[in-house]
Amino acid sequence: MNDTTRPNPQPVDSAAMPRFGDIATFMRLPLLRDPAAVDVALVGVPWDGGTTNRAGARHGPREIRNMSSLVRRVHHATKVSPYDIARCADLGDAPVNPVDVADALKRIEAFFARIHAAGALPLAAGGDHLITLPIFRAITRNRPVGMVHFDAHTDTWDSYFGGFKYTHGTPFRRAIEEGLLDPKRTIQIGIRGSLYRADDMDWGLAQGIRVVTIEEYFKMGPERVAAEARRVVGNGPVYVSFDVDGLDPVYAPGTGTPEIGGYSTAEAQAMLRGLRGLDLVGGDVVEVSPPFDPSGNTAIVGATMMFEILCLLAEAAAQRKGRA
Ligand code: MN
Ligand code: MN
Repeated sequence: MNDTTRPNPQPVDSAAMPRFGDIATFMRLPLLRDPAAVDVALVGVPWDGGTTNRAGARHGPREIRNMSSLVRRVHHATKVSPYDIARCADLGDAPVNPVDVADALKRIEAFFARIHAAGALPLAAGGDHLITLPIFRAITRNRPVGMVHFDAHTDTWDSYFGGFKYTHGTPFRRAIEEGLLDPKRTIQIGIRGSLYRADDMDWGLAQGIRVVTIEEYFKMGPERVAAEARRVVGNGPVYVSFDVDGLDPVYAPGTGTPEIGGYSTAEAQAMLRGLRGLDLVGGDVVEVSPPFDPSGNTAIVGATMMFEILCLLAEAAAQRKGRA
């Protein structure tokens, strides 16, 4: 039972300590270790052991924390103030193993299972996109989720390098095979980039995934694509996964697998705001890779998209409490 008499955790007051000061946590929130104390748990996953090409996303959480100090406390368009409607905190980083993929996936799953058991909604900062698989294993057991997936890539390839099944190009193939993700309630937005083979996308399409290629995206625009996402995911539980390489690399160059010709940051924000009111159970921002991000801009983008998703999750948590 939540203690409703205690005030919600609040970001450091920027009138008392400038936003460039003190210890960097996500959104300057308190660092708490007890998931039972929060409704929304912001978590770093500093791991890129699933990366097939340019590595570096393991450094994402630290830089996203740093740049998230630029984010203020109220959403400028929706006026949502997540810290007033839900208990939000930085829960630290999931423990990882940089030299063993299977062990890393186990450690990440165990960390998110604790958060899920406490009833908190996770919001993760990667890390490469394979981190979403152990998060799904932790939070979707016996209840497959739908997904709104922003990405240049479908991440539904089968294997790499002659049979290796666990990479950042395969998480959603594994999640569907394991019954964690409902392909018929999944939409992928921004898909583009050269393929290995002309039939690369056929497996996902045959499962029933709604694939919105970048060509279709530009014909529809962000509002209609958000409406399509709502139609696809319906009223059931849904997860938002935001790979920054879905954005055009002029907006997010600091990522391992950039693909030109994507949507803008403003368009992505418009789509995320179009997801208000869904039954959201978690989200992530992945593939921010600081070694390719000398300006820090991609980390700012990652932090700001995290805030957009945080506002959605705080509203979802508040709605759920209202229903309970
Ligand atoms: Mn991805
Ligand atoms: Mn991608």
